Amino acid sequence: MCMSDRPVKIIGGGLAGSEAAWQLLRRGIPVRLYEMRPLKMTAAHKTGLLGELVCSNSLRSADILSAPGLLKEELRLAGSLIMEAALESRVPAGSAMAVDRQLFAEYITERLGSHPLFELVHEEIGEIPDDGIVIVSTGPLTSRAFSEALKGILEGEYLYFYDAIAPIVDADGIDYSIVFRASRYGKGGDDYLNCPMNEEEYNRFYDALISADRVRAREFEDEKFFEGCMPIEVMAERGRDTLRYGPMKPVGLRDPRTGKEPHAVVQLRLENRQGSSYNMVGFQTRLKWPEQDRVFRLIPGLRDVEFLRYGSIHRNTFINGPRFLSETLSLKNNPDLYIGGQLTGVEGYIESTATGLLAGINIWRRLTGRPPAIPPKETAHGGLLRHVTSSSPEGFQPSNINFGLIPPPEERIRDKREKKEYIVRRALQRWKEYLSEINEPQRCIIRR
Ligand SMILES: Cc1cc2nc3c(=O)[nH]c(=O)nc-3n(C[C@H](O)[C@H](O)[C@H](O)COP(=O)(O)OP(=O)(O)OC[C@H]3O[C@@H](n4cnc5c(N)ncnc54)[C@H](O)[C@@H]3O)c2cc1C
Repeated sequence: MCMSDRPVKIIGGGLAGSEAAWQLLRRGIPVRLYEMRPLKMTAAHKTGLLGELVCSNSLRSADILSAPGLLKEELRLAGSLIMEAALESRVPAGSAMAVDRQLFAEYITERLGSHPLFELVHEEIGEIPDDGIVIVSTGPLTSRAFSEALKGILEGEYLYFYDAIAPIVDADGIDYSIVFRASRYGKGGDDYLNCPMNEEEYNRFYDALISADRVRAREFEDEKFFEGCMPIEVMAERGRDTLRYGPMKPVGLRDPRTGKEPHAVVQLRLENRQGSSYNMVGFQTRLKWPEQDRVFRLIPGLRDVEFLRYGSIHRNTFINGPRFLSETLSLKNNPDLYIGGQLTGVEGYIESTATGLLAGINIWRRLTGRPPAIPPKETAHGGLLRHVTSSSPEGFQPSNINFGLIPPPEERIRDKREKKEYIVRRALQRWKEYLSEINEPQRCIIRR
């Protein structure tokens, strides 16, 4: 086993930082992890434990035929500490993988803390260390002082704001006998799909929307929304017809089934080049996920869609990954500085974990003279990595894992279940090949 005397410094002991630390430690690389809690808390964390979950205790679907299920399986196969902790602290939650959050974080803290090559320093870091290799994984609630330091090295192109995320739906579930393709006044080609509503359908949808259960605003998020990211249900409260003059305006659109302008329209915008998913335009929302499922299915044409991503609004801090990140997750202009977790532009617990895992593996490879190891694009890890490194930097938005990030089967498969089975089988095969390649023994050259 290769040993390195100088520790890799990790700033932030959340999900990504803990996973990155583990991937280094288990390969013989010493780690010094800086975590500011409990000396200084974020507005959401409650303990000083490593790997604390800030909100839900769910790591999402356990179904291997779902994208989150696939990502978790890839993590498990790669010896992820976060997955090990999840399996040790699992609680029954139907088809989801949910954990006892206290046991989960205690397990992570104990496993890392008892490793002989691990050092934990409780300290708020205010400057980016400039000696040796550093992983920055301070998360969506990065402390203010450190945000300023990051801004400095990112030439002001640092993003810190309230995320307003609209749901994304799977193209296969859309009812194309109802939904029609057109742009307003015929301008701009047929880029949008339109879900038309008559008055009765609109009223039913409106009543369900304004009475639906919402995620409570939290103290640290209690700020005014920009007009452009106002939740759809908050806008609806201004009056029954407000949405018809806003995101649901029907003007310039003609429903081919009736030849008339609908009473209201929900527009869907293509989310990816493969055409496998659509974004619900202007539908950023704070409705609880099961409520989004219930209410948005009332929209004609969307009854049977699968929600690849639910809408949400919360404070977020992330960098423009495609502009700044290399495929190893180091900064393009500073190869000693790696970024992990939500800061890279992924969204979610397991996604943050995945980027920590990739950063850890790549640092180990670099320190031991191995070339970078980039996961294949057909894997869930590869899909996420490409999202944060190869999307268009213009208007870059964070994403959680969904099948839209993974290339579709080479040949069209009509049956939805068969299609997912194919994608998952192909992903796991490629991931196993990748893991056996990265773990190949090699001559040990410690490069610093
Ligand atoms: C309010 C909120 C709710 C969320 N809910 C969910 C959810 O339910 N499900 C989901 O999948 N995702 C959720 N997310 C998104 C995201 O998945 C989590 O925030 C996830 O924990 C991100 O992982 P991370 O490792 O990037 O950051 P974190 O897990 O937040 O870890 C970052 C760590 O860095 C530390 N830190 C920050 N600044 C410094 C500093 N200057 N010096 C030293 N340490 C520092 C913090 O104390 C923290 O421990 C939520 C995000 C937010 C903000």
